[in-house]
Amino acid sequence: MPEITLEFLRKERENCWIELQRLNEVFLEKLNCKNGEKNSHGCHLETYTLTDKTLIEMQKKKLEAFDEAIKRWYSETYGICLGDKCGNGKIPIKRLKSKPYAAFCVACLESTPKS
Ligand SMILES: [Zn+2]
Repeated sequence: MPEITLEFLRKERENCWIELQRLNEVFLEKLNCKNGEKNSHGCHLETYTLTDKTLIEMQKKKLEAFDEAIKRWYSETYGICLGDKCGNGKIPIKRLKSKPYAAFCVACLESTPKS
């Protein structure tokens, strides 16, 4: 497991961005095919665009979360929970390694109502 460094954060953000571009391309390709016609992915336009939009939105949010995480790195608050349940405790390193953009510890995340 890599240690969390700025390099690591940037690399993860880059991967996230590449994935977003890929999703956008697939989405555009599907939009370009005529209604009812099957595209190169072999799926119908109407069925899949909604899922694609959701995926793209999720990916965009993830990218924003990475940007925020990098900002926190510069302001030396990276890894400190933004929630209030734990009294601004540290986010466990294990959690940061699997979700480098995490801004909350699990306890705070679970107590935050989902909007
Ligand atoms: Zn917390």
